[in-house]
Amino acid sequence: MGHVAFQGDDQKPFEAEVDAVVVGSGAGGALAAVTLVRAGWSVAVVEAGAWRDPQDYPHSAYGAMRDVMDDWGAQLARGRALWPIVQARTMGGSTVINSAICVRTPEDLFPQWEREHGLTGLQQRMLTIQEKLEAELSVEEVPPAARGRSNVLAKAAGDALGWADSHYIRRYAKGCEGTGQCLQGCSRMKKQSTNVAYLPLVREKGLVLSCAPVERVLLEGTKAVGVTGHFVHPQTRETGTRFTVRAKKAVIVAASVTHSAVLLMKSKVKSPALGHFFRCHPGTGVFGLYDEPVDMNVGTTQGWASVAFRNEPGLKLETLAIPPEMVASRLSGGGVQLMNRIERFRHLAMWVMAVRAEAVGRITVGLFSGKPVVSYGFERPDMERLRRGFVLVAQQHQAAGAKTIVSGIAGLPYELPTEQAIKVLETAPLDPRQYTVILSHLFGGCVMGSDPSRSVTDVHGRVHGYQNLLVADASLIPSTLGVNPQHTIMSLATIVAEDLASA
Ligand SMILES: Cc1cc2nc3c(=O)[nH]c(=O)nc-3n(C[C@H](O)[C@H](O)[C@H](O)COP(=O)(O)OP(=O)(O)OC[C@H]3O[C@@H](n4cnc5c(N)ncnc54)[C@H](O)[C@@H]3O)c2cc1C
Ligand code: SF4
Repeated sequence: MGHVAFQGDDQKPFEAEVDAVVVGSGAGGALAAVTLVRAGWSVAVVEAGAWRDPQDYPHSAYGAMRDVMDDWGAQLARGRALWPIVQARTMGGSTVINSAICVRTPEDLFPQWEREHGLTGLQQRMLTIQEKLEAELSVEEVPPAARGRSNVLAKAAGDALGWADSHYIRRYAKGCEGTGQCLQGCSRMKKQSTNVAYLPLVREKGLVLSCAPVERVLLEGTKAVGVTGHFVHPQTRETGTRFTVRAKKAVIVAASVTHSAVLLMKSKVKSPALGHFFRCHPGTGVFGLYDEPVDMNVGTTQGWASVAFRNEPGLKLETLAIPPEMVASRLSGGGVQLMNRIERFRHLAMWVMAVRAEAVGRITVGLFSGKPVVSYGFERPDMERLRRGFVLVAQQHQAAGAKTIVSGIAGLPYELPTEQAIKVLETAPLDPRQYTVILSHLFGGCVMGSDPSRSVTDVHGRVHGYQNLLVADASLIPSTLGVNPQHTIMSLATIVAEDLASA
């Protein structure tokens, strides 16, 4: 059936019928779709964003926000601070813009999920699937030639500090050339995002609709029978003709944490847990300024990490290369002062922390916009974790030889000698409004569990109380992970699809 892109409103409505329709083509949606295709089902993937081949990826951070991010990457979580939520809206979902970091689901989560959510039988299956995915996606440690100085410095510093874990990252990017362009999509075809690795098979054997934001799941009573919406032009945002894809056996929602819950709400699905239990790993970075050039944008986007602090205090530390225009937005000041600061770009290294936060938020539908609204705020324990992260990263920069630290915390001096910065950071303010943080590892909204009053789906991803309606993305995950989530999402989505195919 192939690929159908934008159809203008002068075209007749598009209609198709398949065994299963999957909404969203990211880590969850693509894996659910390809698993069903391999099981012999006829499958349609319906994706809000456009299909871009790697040679058409944007070249700048601005281009990425315009072309491949959801809402320009400018959706804000509403709490005491307004922190941006970053997700993609493109064929391949957030796997197109992510850093391809591959981490298996930590073993300690399975007993927690069983105890708190009644989820059993996942551990061995997920491990087996993750091993298979690693082989299929040629997962490898960042090759030496692609590491770049920032990652090498971070590794040496982590080792020197005697951290229990300090490693070069394993990624779904065999032969990474270290261009530091992951956020814009990998035009070198090294990153195995789902539009490269899986969706071509779905397109060949089934149907892929792009530029097709689903507005509603079609229900007959409590049975899901398809999806519908209108095409939207990827550049002009003009509304096109209606599309309807009917599904004989299943509708699988995998539209991301914020959109899956909202799509089910707009479809009038009733569940007391819908939109609840939103969690995430808020992340931010600390710059070290070095005498010698570091050239953080030479080398892979993220090449070093440590899980030594995953449980106590609850942090994952990593390196991150961001392009000069984004660095500029992180350095305060304007005019000549800002230019002088940017001039030292080659000497800056940015190392980051993702906080395994306790905070729990909620997703609702915007009254007038119809878009997801995320209410989420940090309380004191999470702010203390964040502050501890600043100290640890500053200490790591110190061990690597940084002369000064640029923390980016509003109200603190722009730059301090490293030793002094560490002392100041130990008592840094605990007001979230003083920190520049983004939310990119998101969980919940349609969490799975055995109790329908506290979960939206069962352990097979089937929505409680409905027939043929399933969820297969990060919104299923009922806790934070403390590690990067793509591997967990892909293996859960595979299980949802395997169980559906064998039911
Ligand atoms: C910048 C960044 C870097 C990251 N780095 C890593 C990393 O290195 N390793 C890692 O493990 N994780 C990483 N993550 C997180 C990881 O990419 C996500 O957790 C994962 O992709 C989420 O999978 P998903 O299927 O739930 O949603 P997504 O992958 O976001 O896919 C959802 C898709 O659904 C589509 N959609 C939404 N609404 C609709 C609708 N109504 N109709 C049709 N389609 C719709 C969206 O356009 C999108 O394509 C990163 C995330 C970001 C943003
Ligand atoms: S660093 Fe460059 S070559 Fe490597 S995966 Fe990212 S975009 Fe591709």
